Amino acid sequence: MGKWIGVDLDGTLAEYHGSMGQAIGRPILPMLEMVKALLRSGIEVRIFTARASDSRQLPAIQQWLASHGLAGCAVTNMKDFNCHLIIDDRAARAVWNRGEHCPGCRGEALRRMEQLGLKGWPTSRGQSSVDLL
Ligand SMILES: [Mg+2]
Repeated sequence: MGKWIGVDLDGTLAEYHGSMGQAIGRPILPMLEMVKALLRSGIEVRIFTARASDSRQLPAIQQWLASHGLAGCAVTNMKDFNCHLIIDDRAARAVWNRGEHCPGCRGEALRRMEQLGLKGWPTSRGQSSVDLL
């Protein structure tokens, strides 16, 4: 089994707006084309989505994928040791073995922390300060 790349669905491969319920939005064309290019290169792409935790949503996801030229992509919400990369609008990449997130992810990470009522990135000392990022 080779390496694979996980690509999130909502907000990454398909447009998502909070009031959509279980509907799957229109494809986000640059990401759709990138996924197709990966597949043409022989890279396995798996659709990495929380929707996979509800098996009732799988047929609609597979139908959406097929209608946009991605028939046959696996759909999962699980990583394994062959997961090489995850592309997800909610991720903040951690720097290898350093316990820090990448500077380019800082703004989005802080925005998401603020949505939880935090003012920064919690530290091992329980502090929450943007200065400690
Ligand atoms: Mg998403």
